[in-house]
Amino acid sequence: MTTRTIRDLSAADLAGKRALVRVDFNVPLDEAGAVSDDTRITAALPTITSLLDRGAKVVLLAHFGRPKGAPEAKYSLAPVAARLQQLLPRPVHFLGETIGAAAVAATRALPNGEVLLLENTRFLPGEEQNDDALSRQLAELGDVYVNDAFGAAHRAHASTSGVAKYCRPAVAGLLMEKELAYLGGALAAPERPFVAILGGSKISGKIDVVEALVPKVDHLLIGGAMACTFFRAKGFETGNSLVEPDRLDMAKDLLARAGDKLVLPVDAMIAPSTDAGGAARVVGRDSIPAGETIFDIAPASVEHYRTLIESSRTVLWNGPMGVFEKAPFDVGTRAVAQAMAVATDRGATTIIGGGDSAAAVADAGLESKMSHVSTGGGASLEFLEGKDLPGVSALDAR
Ligand code: ADP
Ligand code: MG
Repeated sequence: MTTRTIRDLSAADLAGKRALVRVDFNVPLDEAGAVSDDTRITAALPTITSLLDRGAKVVLLAHFGRPKGAPEAKYSLAPVAARLQQLLPRPVHFLGETIGAAAVAATRALPNGEVLLLENTRFLPGEEQNDDALSRQLAELGDVYVNDAFGAAHRAHASTSGVAKYCRPAVAGLLMEKELAYLGGALAAPERPFVAILGGSKISGKIDVVEALVPKVDHLLIGGAMACTFFRAKGFETGNSLVEPDRLDMAKDLLARAGDKLVLPVDAMIAPSTDAGGAARVVGRDSIPAGETIFDIAPASVEHYRTLIESSRTVLWNGPMGVFEKAPFDVGTRAVAQAMAVATDRGATTIIGGGDSAAAVADAGLESKMSHVSTGGGASLEFLEGKDLPGVSALDAR
């Protein structure tokens, strides 16, 4: 870890001080407006609790949804504050403002050991532009800055990046530290064999990850819609499958360069549509009829992938193997999750990156069977691509 964390802060840095903590509380709400999945809130508790235990006043900043730089009632963080209060046995206050005299006064009036959640940072014009004046205003809310919002770390915004210029020390929280340790560890010094599994929707969104992973892994297993573009690149009929024609040359080039490392499915689960699950059938990858669509990997591929995953020491997975939202096209994705659970039991380090993959793992009830389920979809992808995360590089170096 090259970034300082809250572990590096002294008692004097925290006792009686205002710790301004950027968290990722971008959670889903149900129809009644209550938090329907509090995974991200729970994930921030170790950092919050550690700071409170050391006598700090914890001031939380978070974004929520996509308001366009102005207040919108449906994007208020009030329901999130209510859930946080249920999860944390300490007083949690909420203020419907983010910056300015009233907000600064509220941070100063906060008793030691208590929490204040401020309103959605994306209500502020300048947040997404990383505005310098706004960064200075945010810095007035704390004496030390902590970034624990891994899920927003790929964004150079005022509350994730700019503020760190004016509020020092600026350090990583425990969730941020854990995310960087797992994802960074897999990239820098993986125990081998190291297998990565990539799937999901489009190859165009993940090509940089493929490029970055090929030199590092022992095997790169491909599934999801990505596989369809590779099939077409190999000259197979792909029916109505989601192929990106403008990426065919790139796919051919990758196949040539990656050689045996790049493992494609050998068969496919096809159907006329996702609603025609009853008509789903297995075909070899070179026998896909026109008029049908690939919606999942099929048994021979599942078996091959399972064997490779279960005999690996490091497994990294991003992107479902099929349209897992709709049975029976969830079978391949569930099988990968299950194989990773077995690998974990055998002592492997297993890491899930990507929002839909994490949802699939949760759906299968296998979250606790993984070494690490990343809370950041976009951020984990950019990290795996080898990109600098602005929310991390803004922090104090060790
Ligand atoms: P993650 O969030 O884990 O990074 P993505 O967002 O890249 O994953 O992709 C998830 C989506 O990919 C899912 O909605 C799933 O339905 C879709 N998908 C997977 N396989 C296919 C396929 N063969 N055809 C069309 N869509 C697919
Ligand atoms: Mg997704």
